[in-house]
Amino acid sequence: MPVQLAQTFALFERALRVVPGGIYGHQTPALLVPGSYPYFFARGEGSHVWDVDGNEYVDYMCSYGPIVLGHRHPVVEEAVLAQMRRGNCFNAPTELFVELAEHLVDLTPFADWAVFAKNGSDVCTWAIAVARAATGRTKIVKAAGAYHGTHAWCSPLPGGLTAEDRANVLEVAWNDLAELERTVAGEPEGIAGIILTPFRHDTFHDSELPAPGYLEGVRRLCDAKQIVFILDDVRAGFRLHLAGSGEHFGVRPDLACYCKAIANGYPLSACVGREALRAAAQEVFFTGSFFTSAVPMAAALACLRELAATDAIARMAALGTRLCRGLEEAARAHDLEVVTSGPPAIPFMSFRDDPGQSLNRPFCAAAAERGVYLHPHHNWFLSAAHTDADVDRTLAVADEAFRIVAASR
Ligand code: PMP
Repeated sequence: MPVQLAQTFALFERALRVVPGGIYGHQTPALLVPGSYPYFFARGEGSHVWDVDGNEYVDYMCSYGPIVLGHRHPVVEEAVLAQMRRGNCFNAPTELFVELAEHLVDLTPFADWAVFAKNGSDVCTWAIAVARAATGRTKIVKAAGAYHGTHAWCSPLPGGLTAEDRANVLEVAWNDLAELERTVAGEPEGIAGIILTPFRHDTFHDSELPAPGYLEGVRRLCDAKQIVFILDDVRAGFRLHLAGSGEHFGVRPDLACYCKAIANGYPLSACVGREALRAAAQEVFFTGSFFTSAVPMAAALACLRELAATDAIARMAALGTRLCRGLEEAARAHDLEVVTSGPPAIPFMSFRDDPGQSLNRPFCAAAAERGVYLHPHHNWFLSAAHTDADVDRTLAVADEAFRIVAASR
């Protein structure tokens, strides 16, 4: 199906002249299928987005997570506009700063305080520094392949990094408690912190939920060795449980990092923590030109209250489940077998026995060309604005996309 992307390519040509690589990071076209995907968007409404050529898509990336209530959610937009009229950026925080910290502390059973920043990377890096300040140790353990942001200790690509940047970071396999215990036992000076996402959601990989007992085992190990347990809930936070994904999976960390969905698309991240870490939190310098901006905090309060006041979290799970079961069934009708993975609100799909996810490329390209925006190699996101009609349309498009994949084999 010919898809009109002339404006996307014209803009990308212009971008290439003035931006190294045109578009960088996770939004690079290199991770998509050229010719089938737009690279620039013009607007969004609810569960739908429109690209610069005017093509409309059912949006299953939700801006890679931030859009949890849907684009331009009226309650959030009203709070944003009201705060914009008063101002955004001042010499000191507004009352919203205190109100939002109180709100997060009330929501989160283990947390006694909160701090705010802009990006997930900011709070993950700050959290490991707090773990070091609290314990007086240097080593951090993370899961191999897990993404915690762009900073040097964890950046996924080697450009510009030194060996020293990673010298104090140890990696273990996700879900392997025995390896984690061996790694901790092998460090005579001790471990400052263990940072994990609530489930494994690496790109180019099926998602993996925590094995029964895994997160509980991490908690026990951290308690036994006085290690700070950091939950990087940047990607999953507020889509699975309002009190954080730890609560969804039955574990309470010492620090939890949030970003993406906290303010329905406005730039804000947060770290919440236990009383025992308050002094260390105060010791680790943390600031930024826009960390206390008021508009994103107004958006966050509105977003979190709307999530609490509605069945948004249950709806995302229910629609995600329908989507996954529907995709499996649609694939079977073409003698294909797909694997759906991850929690239903943050699902992913790949083809069985398809190393490198090569079949996801023609599948997702065909979907994009027909107005359904899925990502071939990164987990997807539902929002509370998605509807049964969106899922129906997606499954009709998927049927066509599976037909194309089946014919190409
Ligand atoms: N941690 C996780 C689990 C993430 O998914 C991300 C962003 N994809 C980050 C940290 C970094 O967040 P940011 O891009 O806002 O710096």
